[in-house]
Amino acid sequence: MTLPITLRSSFPASALLRLRSTEREISYDYALNADPMVACRVCGSREIGLLQKSLCGSRFALLTCRSCRLEFLDPLPAPDDLRRIYSAEYYRSWGMAEGGNPAVDAMKKLTFAGHLRRLRNHIGAGDLLDIGTATGLLLEVAREQGFEPYGIEISDYAAALAAAKFGAGRIHHGTLQTAPFGDGRFSAITMTDLIEHVADPLDTLMRVRQLLRPDGIVLITTPNTASLTRLAMGAKWTHYKVEHLYYLNPRSMAMLAERAGFQVLSIRPASKAITLSYLRDQFRVYRHPVLTPAAEMLAAIFRPLRHAPLRVRTGESLILLRKARDTPQ
Ligand SMILES: [Zn+2]
Repeated sequence: MTLPITLRSSFPASALLRLRSTEREISYDYALNADPMVACRVCGSREIGLLQKSLCGSRFALLTCRSCRLEFLDPLPAPDDLRRIYSAEYYRSWGMAEGGNPAVDAMKKLTFAGHLRRLRNHIGAGDLLDIGTATGLLLEVAREQGFEPYGIEISDYAAALAAAKFGAGRIHHGTLQTAPFGDGRFSAITMTDLIEHVADPLDTLMRVRQLLRPDGIVLITTPNTASLTRLAMGAKWTHYKVEHLYYLNPRSMAMLAERAGFQVLSIRPASKAITLSYLRDQFRVYRHPVLTPAAEMLAAIFRPLRHAPLRVRTGESLILLRKARDTPQ
């Protein structure tokens, strides 16, 4: 089919838009042919499209729900794939190995202190459970703020470091599903950079709800596909990694929370305390064609300031949920 001459010469922008939408439809067909049974795990829609055939050069595709815009990996990585990702090397890349790097730890604790202050607007002290606690930095801040700290961590390496700080009885080495904590006991449950890693986010939130007191609060941080960084960076977004299985946006997050029995208190952009030297180290591990050299350059130019924390919005949401009351049958 040929375009009319007038359209071709005077409407390049609309022609471009049309080409883009054609590309997307072809992609959707590919996804539907690849697996017609795939459905969105948040809203249940079977209107699924393909965003990337191979995320970060892996064998996993990135699909999107055309209804709620949830993005997710397909197929989901097998447990063996995930175990390889969460080896000691993974924690070393995040500056957590060998008992941690004091400068990195201080920076992360500043970030967590900001998050927990928002939590304290809604709840007093009590038992706080941090799921995916890594080496327990958030729990250190929570203890300073008056909470009784408890944690769950899947990596034996990180769980051992956290248990040394808080006692083995307070740190469960394993998953949420195998944790021995009783139902209805926690005032607050935190999941920072966690929900994008789990195989079943709805099941995770429903279990979290059981563990909470009737007025309990959940704090979540997770990458936001509706963020400016995602819009600006597209397929090169720094949160796209094979260990991130689900990518939410405020709408899909609210739908997921409500399905799991929560009332949304707030969803806002999260800010992190980040130093230039940390940024440079991260982009040495997760290489990016533009940001890796940019971070090297900034850390070199601002060498005297490279350990000073800056408040940066990295394209994540900070979400606060309250356990909704059971509806009478
Ligand atoms: Zn959906």
